[in-house]
Amino acid sequence: NAPASESEALLASRQAHFAKPQKNYYRRPPQIERGFREEMYDVDGRTYLDMVNNVTILGHGHPRLAEAVGRQWSLLNTNSRFHYAGVAEFSKRLADLAPEGLDTVFLVNSGSEANDLALRLAWAHSGARNMLCLLEAYHGWTVASDAVSTSIADNPQALTTRPSWVHAITSPNTFRGPFRGPDSAAGYIAAAEKALAAIDAKEEGLAGFICESVYGNSGGIPLPKGYLKEVYRMVRERGGVTIADEVQVGYGRLGHYFWGFDEQGVTPDIITIAKGMGNGHPLGAVITSRAIADSLEKEGYFFSSAGGSPVSCVVGQTVLDIMRDERLQDNARDIGDHLRSRLEALGQRFAIVGAVHGMGLYLGLEFVRDRQTLEPATIETARICDRLLDLGVIMQPTGDYLNVLKIKPPLCLSRAGADYFADMLARVLEEGY
Ligand code: PMP
Repeated sequence: NAPASESEALLASRQAHFAKPQKNYYRRPPQIERGFREEMYDVDGRTYLDMVNNVTILGHGHPRLAEAVGRQWSLLNTNSRFHYAGVAEFSKRLADLAPEGLDTVFLVNSGSEANDLALRLAWAHSGARNMLCLLEAYHGWTVASDAVSTSIADNPQALTTRPSWVHAITSPNTFRGPFRGPDSAAGYIAAAEKALAAIDAKEEGLAGFICESVYGNSGGIPLPKGYLKEVYRMVRERGGVTIADEVQVGYGRLGHYFWGFDEQGVTPDIITIAKGMGNGHPLGAVITSRAIADSLEKEGYFFSSAGGSPVSCVVGQTVLDIMRDERLQDNARDIGDHLRSRLEALGQRFAIVGAVHGMGLYLGLEFVRDRQTLEPATIETARICDRLLDLGVIMQPTGDYLNVLKIKPPLCLSRAGADYFADMLARVLEEGY
């Protein structure tokens, strides 16, 4: 075991040499050494329940994945300009998972890259530049994906520094937005229509629209009923391309749906995925139609050195095999439903609970100071997360006010794990914060 002073020295070294904008989760973080399933262990052997890891969907340290990756590393790893089985087989498998017509795949290394490429595809396909996106959004760190990221929690200057081609519309936050409840789509659709009319007036055309199809960054809030159907229609009417960012919410996490857009009953023109599909290995993808994919050739060829490498394809295939064999989407639905009911019960007992958002194992617990005014309980939420760490639970806030617990554990979460989380949360709320 590393003595506490050694761990502190390591943290000081991180602060000295790892660039400052790369934030740590905690002010006094445990030094994590290994993980298994939904648990992580620090250098002192303390166990933490990982309720926040939306990347490691299979759980930590999965032996079947480690074995498959190790075998492929010793066989071959190179770039996708070579002809090998993995890239053909994995691309077909992703196309098979997508709705009909979305049969063409680009393999990249992250969600930021996937969204960047999706935006470039929309530009190339439409011949226009203007892009519609939502307020409160996060889509990545690359220049283009950052441009459509409007979350003030991630970037306090976000709203005053977006380039002129970015047109952010009212966040369809049915809990605290200007229109509330699942049947509030009309108000948000009108806001989108107004923004589209302003773009029309510029006579420059519309490239498209990007959004998460269940609103993950605002805490896992489903979009109002019928919202995407109508906004997609208005965007397509103008020659724009619709992009569903499924990086966080898609790929089985919602339990009840494999894709977030299934919840809205729509099919986008482009799907972007990453995070869970690689279980922590850098892997992302864009799935679209042949026509949209081919339009990129106007700008030359596309090549990513490690995107779709033999190792990445084995990771992608093995993740899907394990998800199927261990029925992880079903587990996300069943354990998610159970956890949701436990969180709703906390809402009966504690006034600070404003709402339980989400479904499957993408849940959001929103804390408010007052159920009438919905004043966000931001400081309280930070304290609750700190106290949960003392009790062995990793949890972090999200949303523009950082007052929503983002509950997105590995999809293998057990019922006992879900109950431990709910019990510890009850204890913290009983203690006060
Ligand atoms: N889109 C969404 C919705 C995300 O949550 C994230 C990451 N938080 C990204 C894109 C960017 O993905 P990555 O970190 O893999 O670049």
